Amino acid sequence: MGSVSVRDVSVAFEAFRVFDGLNLDIEEGEFIVLLGPSGCGKSTLLNAIAGLLDVASGQIWIGGRNVTWEEPKDRGIAMVFQSYALYPRMSVRENMSFGLKMAKTPRPEIEKRVKHAADLLQIAHLLDRRPDQLSGGQRQRVAIGRALVRDAAVFLFDEPLSNLDAKLRNELRVEIKRLHARLGKTTMVYVTHDQIEAMTLADRIVVLKEQKVQQIGTPGEIYHRPANLFVAGFVGSPQ
Ligand code: ADP
Ligand code: MG
Repeated sequence: MGSVSVRDVSVAFEAFRVFDGLNLDIEEGEFIVLLGPSGCGKSTLLNAIAGLLDVASGQIWIGGRNVTWEEPKDRGIAMVFQSYALYPRMSVRENMSFGLKMAKTPRPEIEKRVKHAADLLQIAHLLDRRPDQLSGGQRQRVAIGRALVRDAAVFLFDEPLSNLDAKLRNELRVEIKRLHARLGKTTMVYVTHDQIEAMTLADRIVVLKEQKVQQIGTPGEIYHRPANLFVAGFVGSPQ
């Protein structure tokens, strides 16, 4: 269901080639972190998986299906961005229900899924509020909840915690890890430039620099056996 395979993918912005034949295999249920400094290509790779940009060549496979030319909404993914992008005039409940309504999901099913997601994220008491009546951390929980109700096999996160202060970041990081454990087979691909987030969340980390994969490995492997000086410096491992 939730495996992701990036096969020989190249992405180009006009004359500027961002990826040239990139390969990455993610197993169902894995928590993968794409880690690297600003501009290294994390969002581009995530957006290519999501179908938010076209690949110049190569293929994207999700759940054993070639989805390279499918619309984002047909790929079985849910995405959470850095900016919460909640609808300001809708309540939390309406924000979380909106995508399902569009997809013509029956009302009782919508209610069930919203309640379940709200319970998991501890926002059930906020369902009737509007986004401007929420704190930053609560808003980001709603954004995660809105993705969660879609019941997707693959979750894509693009720096979801970057706008939050350190305390909230730690809190939500733990929450996301717990969510992944409770969801079982759900695959998560999580973009960050934060080494601590990567080390604590990932089953495997993909370290990127200048749109090239430097190393793929478990946090332990990356830390104790960095492939090169860049990786060692970036994750702060001893040399
Ligand atoms: P990251 O998310 O790791 O900060 P991005 O994937 O956003 O990096 O960007 C990777 C590279 O591609 C950068 O050099 C960036 O300037 C370039 N880039 C990203 N989006 C565009 C675009 N729409 N047009 C041209 N260049 C882009
Ligand atoms: Mg980015």
